[in-house]
Amino acid sequence: MNCEHQSFQAEVRQLLDIVIHSLYTDREIFTRELVSNASDALEKLKLLQLTESGIHEPEQPLQIEITTDEENRQLVIADRGIGMTREELVQNLGTIAHSGTKAFLQSMKEKGTQNGGMIGQFGVGFYSVFMVADRVDVYTHSWRTDAPSLRWSSDGREGYEIEEVDSQARGARMVIHLKEEYAEYAKESRIKELLNKYSNFVAFPILLNGERVNQVEALWLKAKGEVSDKEYEEFYQFTAKAWDKPRFTMHFTADAPLDIHALLFLPEENQERFGFGPVQPGVALYCKRVLIDPQPEGLLPEWLRFVRGVIDSADLPLNISRESMQDSALVKKLGQVVTKRLLKFLEKKATDDAAAYREFYQGFSRFIKEGIVSSHEHREALAGLLRFESSMTEGDTLSSFDDYIARMKDGQTDIYYLAGTSRSVMESGPYLEAFKARGLEVAYFTEGVDEFVFESLGTYREKKLVRADQADIELEETALDGEALAASEVESLQTWWQEAMGGQLKEVKTGKRLIGSPVVALVPEDAPNPQMRAMMKAMGQDVPSVKPVLEINPRHPLVKKLSSLRTEKPEIAGLVAQQLVDQAMLSAGLVEHPQQLATRMNEILEKIL
Ligand code: ADP
Repeated sequence: MNCEHQSFQAEVRQLLDIVIHSLYTDREIFTRELVSNASDALEKLKLLQLTESGIHEPEQPLQIEITTDEENRQLVIADRGIGMTREELVQNLGTIAHSGTKAFLQSMKEKGTQNGGMIGQFGVGFYSVFMVADRVDVYTHSWRTDAPSLRWSSDGREGYEIEEVDSQARGARMVIHLKEEYAEYAKESRIKELLNKYSNFVAFPILLNGERVNQVEALWLKAKGEVSDKEYEEFYQFTAKAWDKPRFTMHFTADAPLDIHALLFLPEENQERFGFGPVQPGVALYCKRVLIDPQPEGLLPEWLRFVRGVIDSADLPLNISRESMQDSALVKKLGQVVTKRLLKFLEKKATDDAAAYREFYQGFSRFIKEGIVSSHEHREALAGLLRFESSMTEGDTLSSFDDYIARMKDGQTDIYYLAGTSRSVMESGPYLEAFKARGLEVAYFTEGVDEFVFESLGTYREKKLVRADQADIELEETALDGEALAASEVESLQTWWQEAMGGQLKEVKTGKRLIGSPVVALVPEDAPNPQMRAMMKAMGQDVPSVKPVLEINPRHPLVKKLSSLRTEKPEIAGLVAQQLVDQAMLSAGLVEHPQQLATRMNEILEKIL
């Protein structure tokens, strides 16, 4: 029969040279490449079956058969897909048309061929087999009934031969003659391990030495109604290597703007709460059931690293490299679309099943907050997912900012909040009373990161987020009980107080805030707040001292008494004035040495008794 010898295209030779001589790691990925080619060929045949009547050997099952032969150091990967004609063999296995492969070559040229760690980052397709083989024979019969049976054969150096052979089954059968040092790939156990690792969700049966190895179906490609809870659970446990049940399961399909099949799981536990540090991202990227990357870093934003599952998009080029993936506009878009859907999903959960959402929130609110700080484009949606107690909620009822906005008073333009260690501490402090008296709601936040999060959030639905302990909040007049000190007395008391404190205070003034408390310390808007100060301190930075504004309540008996005391008993008056300032500073989180307060209190008591 006629045997035709042909040379490889120059680029193919170049690629093969790199593959064979310069790459040292991740040789195993050739199985992934060949199995995905086989799966592609089956996929194409499946499509042809819909439109073509004359398909060669129509009864052949759509499956991949792999056999290992240790004795002869051979691995055979066969499929019943579309196969190849002579022209196709030349075109597909003799030239490079694929953009991923071209990108690989390009990057090799730029970075030099010594960079051996790179192959795992690239799909180099069929040619990767020459990393482990010193000869490959491809036996094939095209799906076209009248096509010849052929053998393509090459040692992966200069060229290849094509010859007609005795009748072959439809599809392609790759007979891989392994190099001596890679005999491991003729071992059943090794191949089984690799199939489990890379090809478990290939949608066609894979038989290894006659036994089916891929048990798990591509669940994400099925319609929602066709998958049982049990199946979801098993799949979650498989992909996430988890033992628990998924807390939430989100299964969706989209065809615009991108083709997406996603099956995502939110786990029961936040692993990071156990103090093992950040978890690795766990949403695998597939293209038509073929694994592109089990842990793609640039796909979903960092703060979604707790999510598990699979995203499959037919729009991705199969050979997309991990490197080019990171800056591929397509992958970014894919990540954005899925992130948006996930946020919508959580939003819906929160309304449909508030109790379940609440539990989720307790474990995972950290990630939402991290997202607000780091993902500008999703921050509004994320802020909508925050939950908090407030001055208008009872018990441990939680609200959202949307609930808050719905309760806002006519004319109220800002959202007020306090951040402190607990609700009771915030409620016993001096900041709340002014807001309560005016019927303004104050949201309570109790986590260390909250201040920082709101600082970066700034607004929600165009409403400014304002700390209730900030100095320059404009509050409307409200009727106040009790007689106040005369204006002239107030003025001289303020001057005296300011001087007595020797530069500790920016200003002493009267204001509209205080009802039941004598004084309050207000932090200038641009000063670092307590949480920020704690963070700066933890990072070893110098923390600038804050000079607060002291607002005094001219109706409060203590203040009135102090006004007369300062002429009658100036020494005690001085101590009391300092004590009031320190207590106010304590409530504002500005006191570094609280024990001083007790010492001075003792001094005052001694003088009085
Ligand atoms: P890619 O799969 O990314 O296109 P490859 O180098 O892996 O690049 O393969 C080149 C081409 O060879 C494929 O596009 C396909 O047309 C053909 N091919 C490879 N394997 C098979 C197969 N098992 N059956 C049919 N055609 C195949």
